[in-house]
Amino acid sequence: MAIEIIKEKCTGCGLCFKACPYDAFEFEPYDGNKLGRVCKVNDKCNFCNQCLTSCKFGAIKEVQVGGAVDLSAYKHIWVYAEQRDGKLMNVALELIGEGYRLAKEISEDTQVCAVLVGNNIDHLASECFEYGADKVYMIQDPLLEHYTTDAYTKVITDAIDEYKPEIVLYGATHIGRDLAPRIAARCNTGLTADCTRLDVKVSSYIDFAKKKTTLDTSTLDPNDPSTGIKQTRPAFGGNLMATIICPKTRPQMSTVRPGVMQKREKVEGATGEIINVKPEISESDIHVQIVDVVKSAKEMVSLTDADIICSGGRGLGDASGFELIKKFADKVGGVVGSSRAAVDAGWIDHSHQVGQTGTTVKPKIYFACGISGAIQHLAGMQTSDIIVAINKDPDAPIFEVADYGIVGDLYKVIPEIIAEWDKAED
Ligand code: FAD
Repeated sequence: MAIEIIKEKCTGCGLCFKACPYDAFEFEPYDGNKLGRVCKVNDKCNFCNQCLTSCKFGAIKEVQVGGAVDLSAYKHIWVYAEQRDGKLMNVALELIGEGYRLAKEISEDTQVCAVLVGNNIDHLASECFEYGADKVYMIQDPLLEHYTTDAYTKVITDAIDEYKPEIVLYGATHIGRDLAPRIAARCNTGLTADCTRLDVKVSSYIDFAKKKTTLDTSTLDPNDPSTGIKQTRPAFGGNLMATIICPKTRPQMSTVRPGVMQKREKVEGATGEIINVKPEISESDIHVQIVDVVKSAKEMVSLTDADIICSGGRGLGDASGFELIKKFADKVGGVVGSSRAAVDAGWIDHSHQVGQTGTTVKPKIYFACGISGAIQHLAGMQTSDIIVAINKDPDAPIFEVADYGIVGDLYKVIPEIIAEWDKAED
């Protein structure tokens, strides 16, 4: 997409300047109106379309740009390796693992490349290699010390224009969700948000679809390479799975939730190629100023990294039920999770919520206590290694995904588990 000014209609009044949050308008001389000037869009435009309704004269329109894209010009898989304070986010390593798997499905010579953006972050390249990256694109500058939407969008878009990756993956973190759509708009390509599965081979997608959906797979050709990656994500409140393709433009872009994909086994000392990309960025490209970084004072729950999670739901009855869940979690060395019903009731903070609108988790053991197993909750925990459900209703849907089910009152069952644990420790 692009914004076009219809010169014959533009009066040069400059109303659009006020509507644009990105300073993307300037004047250029023009003989055809009284003011002798018309408005012009510069390369700061973010395609937000705020200007479209600001012009009283109908002189601004949105247009489709470019013809057919040469898909063959794009190669390799990029992972935005998100770092904060010089530390890689777990999801970056998970995506390198997924990128590695997809690269093998695409072709022998397809590489998975990590994109590191920041300042003084050279030390992170080795970690990317050890988890499976073939190559690291390093983009460093003092102006990239802290994340800003403008700066990171610009430098990554510039790198994509230059190196032309076929696929770009981002973690669906706050930063990934802010960054990816902007880059997609600038690259004039699509983005599938919050993917839970990615497939390259039609044959492996068919295997998945046969098990998990009612899709008529007989119409799909297992050898058809033309559709690119098949990006699957929950849609309509998690009630169906949508598979989305991006057949006409490149790169293909997805955000993927933390905790969904598998990290590769770490290979100590693995190395690869580092490409230092010199970013073209100046202060005038950045519209915000970071004055201070204030970390949240409230206790942060690291659900995505936890090996054991003890979650409580509406079945706890009231907020005090979480005292028992906390005691349980402390005993088994886990962290406290919750269903949305418990969060909505105000019994526990949203940072503990597991599920479609909470955190996606993949612990070694997930205890679901007084949780019915609604599809939106399952979307966030059903890939846990072992699921233990405690529920007094034998027909609760959570038992369909549980490896171990205990039918009973959680206020009787949990103290018994704690007591047995104590005995085992003695
Ligand atoms: P309930 O469904 O009320 O289940 C309570 C369970 O506790 C019952 O099965 C009952 O048998 C059992 N129980 C009662 N007393 C006891 C006892 N003493 N001992 C043992 N068992 C007992 N939900 C999420 O969790 N996460 C999300 O991210 C999420 N996102 C959503 C997004 C959308 C768009 C929508 C529409 C909904 C979302 N939900 C989400 C809400 C979801 O649909 C359910 O409403 C919610 O998960 C129910 O929570 P619950 O299982 O704790 O409560």
